[in-house]
Amino acid sequence: MTRTVYVNGEYLPETEAKVSIFDRGFLMADAVYEVTSVLGGKLIDFEGHAVRLARSLNELDMPQPLSKDELLDIHRELVLLNDITDGMIYLQISRGAPNDRDFVFPDPETTKPTVVLFTQNKPGLAQSPVAKKGLKVISIEDVRWGRRDIKTVQLLYPSMGKMMAKKAGCDDAWMVEDGFVTEGTSNNAYIIKGNKIITRALSNDILHGITRAAVLRFAREAQMDVEERNFTIAEAQDADEAFITSASTFVMPVVEIDGAAVGTGAVGPMATRLREIYLDESMKTAI
Ligand code: PMP
Repeated sequence: MTRTVYVNGEYLPETEAKVSIFDRGFLMADAVYEVTSVLGGKLIDFEGHAVRLARSLNELDMPQPLSKDELLDIHRELVLLNDITDGMIYLQISRGAPNDRDFVFPDPETTKPTVVLFTQNKPGLAQSPVAKKGLKVISIEDVRWGRRDIKTVQLLYPSMGKMMAKKAGCDDAWMVEDGFVTEGTSNNAYIIKGNKIITRALSNDILHGITRAAVLRFAREAQMDVEERNFTIAEAQDADEAFITSASTFVMPVVEIDGAAVGTGAVGPMATRLREIYLDESMKTAI
């Protein structure tokens, strides 16, 4: 089926949607993005994603081209036009397309941002069999830039990290800086010891995951302890359980790190419970 996508105010078949070769997203990764999940035809955590998008744009001195309500309307329209029950909506805003390549930012009065949204259809997204099996991860050095809190489309290194994991027969990579885990290539990283969930504190070193915020809130409400601090790969290998969070994987257990089994090596009860709680609670507030 040909998707209907959104480009700069128009809904078009994907084959007819076009962006200039001078677009700064294409030439310089001068663009930010968001991925929002759709479950049962409704948007999960839309508010959080809209707030983070505004922050990313602000940090890069990019104008906010659409209001939150306008963005919500476009998301909903794409869900309807593409008949999405379960899946994702990808949104990207670049600084636009000036008439040439230049390091200097174009004048925002004359060069308007490029806004693109498209859907990804993933029937049964929340019933992923991987959640029962768990992920195997490797550790790699974190060599990304220092503003990982801004959700830019500079995804080459995370993409290389996934390839390194694949070559090693694993599913993903956790990145390590100065001996401590920062995050996964496209997710936040956690370990569990006893009743305690341990995850790196928010800073410019990691993306401020929307799923992270919700999961930590639900965990505290469920009387689990949460400790936001650094941890090493050795501590993670010695933990009872481990997991990741992201908008598209929700809570996903991790059962092996650099070849060492975490806990029993099978998916544990705490990660399973957190996944259930997250899915139940976020479905209640889906819009
Ligand atoms: N960290 C990184 C590096 C990511 O790319 C993502 C997903 N985009 C996350 C964390 C998780 O963020 P969220 O829960 O908002 O999807």
